[in-house]
Amino acid sequence: MHELSVCQALIDQLEALALEQGARRVLSLVVGIGPLSGVEARLLKQAYPVAAAGTLAEDAELDIEDRPIRVHCRTCGEDSDATANRLLCASCGDWRTDLVSGDELVLTRVEFIREQAHV
Ligand SMILES: [Zn+2]
Repeated sequence: MHELSVCQALIDQLEALALEQGARRVLSLVVGIGPLSGVEARLLKQAYPVAAAGTLAEDAELDIEDRPIRVHCRTCGEDSDATANRLLCASCGDWRTDLVSGDELVLTRVEFIREQAHV
C-alpha cells in the first residue's frame, strides 16, 4: 500500500523535527496534498494510525488540506490555477505550461507537546 510508506516517511520527518525541538509527542499535524501527487487523502487517513502506532506521533490528530494546481505559462509567463485534466494557462489558454504546484505532499504544520519535568 503506497499510502503506508508515505505515512512512514511523514513519521520519520516528525521524529527528526521532534528531536530538533526537544519535543516528546506530536499533538497534531497538517499535511497538504496536491491532486497530482497520486496520494488519496482518504487512504492516507486510514494508513496513518497503522504507521504511527508505537511512535511519538501515535494519537496525533491528522488533518489534510488540498493544495491547488498551479501552472506557469511558457507563452505569456503568467502563473494561474488549473485543473488536473486541463493544465492550460488561464490567462491566454496555451497548453505549453509547466507545473508549479499540485503534485506535492508536504507537512504544512506540526504541533508538539513538550512534557515538563515535574519537580
Ligand atoms: Zn499564457
